[in-house]
Amino acid sequence: MTGTTERPEEWASRGIDITKPSIARAYDVVLRGKDNFEVDRAFVSEITKVIPEIYDVAAYNRQVLGRGVRFLAEQGIRQFLDLGSGLPTVQNTHQVAQSVAPDSKVVYVDNDPMVLVHGRALLAQNERTSVVTADLRDPAAVLGDPGVTRLIDFTRPVAIMMVGILHHLHDDEDPKGIVEAYLDVAPSGSHLFVTHFCASSQEARDAEKQYLAMLGTGRFRTVEEITAYFDGLELLEPGVVPLPLWRPDGPVPVESDMSIGQRLMYGGIARKP
Ligand code: SAM
Repeated sequence: MTGTTERPEEWASRGIDITKPSIARAYDVVLRGKDNFEVDRAFVSEITKVIPEIYDVAAYNRQVLGRGVRFLAEQGIRQFLDLGSGLPTVQNTHQVAQSVAPDSKVVYVDNDPMVLVHGRALLAQNERTSVVTADLRDPAAVLGDPGVTRLIDFTRPVAIMMVGILHHLHDDEDPKGIVEAYLDVAPSGSHLFVTHFCASSQEARDAEKQYLAMLGTGRFRTVEEITAYFDGLELLEPGVVPLPLWRPDGPVPVESDMSIGQRLMYGGIARKP
């Protein structure tokens, strides 16, 4: 981490590999956090050569996460399964949801060991929130984890959140099938919240090559592919759109004026009928 020892063997003993960039820590770099290593910063530095606005893109994603969770809480959702939740930062899901409805329950799921360490510290005081270390590609294991079953009641509506994560699943891992596995156990009135890297420009397609080469994941899918995650659901207004267009707090930006960075991620929320 910034300002601390970066001796690989010390971190390896805690299950943390600092010789390769990690998704969670690279995201922490672009959110201007402190929980990252030189290898993560070097990866982000390469990405900025293709997408100079990548720090702004992370901010758009965090902003829409906040707007989306607030919207879901205002719709009456009181349970949130936040899959691929990331390292704690400002305005995390439980803080936004519980500011609207203090009885909201939130389970964070991530497979990065640093998320567990930091998440536990953040949530030590909050009995309506838990952090589970699990691989979201194994829905049966996630749904059966005691950290999930203790807080989430699958007879009541739940928000399935896959924010900034599905692009880290390869096509042959069947991301759509994984989304469906979570939705299958959720009752009517549940919601799906997705944000995703989009192949919306040549620069985005170039960035995909860098992500795949250096991080090992990062599929920039088309708007049609992202929209397909919502098949069978009622897609709520304004649909699957560039993130700054999703229910902005201020005036709606003009789409034709939007920059490459503003169009790099698309997202939406849908309701299970
Ligand atoms: N959802 C947060 C947000 O949008 O601000 C964090 C997004 S971050 C880009 C993606 C997170 O997904 C990282 O923390 C990473 O460790 C986690 N992740 C990646 N693959 C995963 C997997 N197979 N199972 C669980 N978590 C995973």
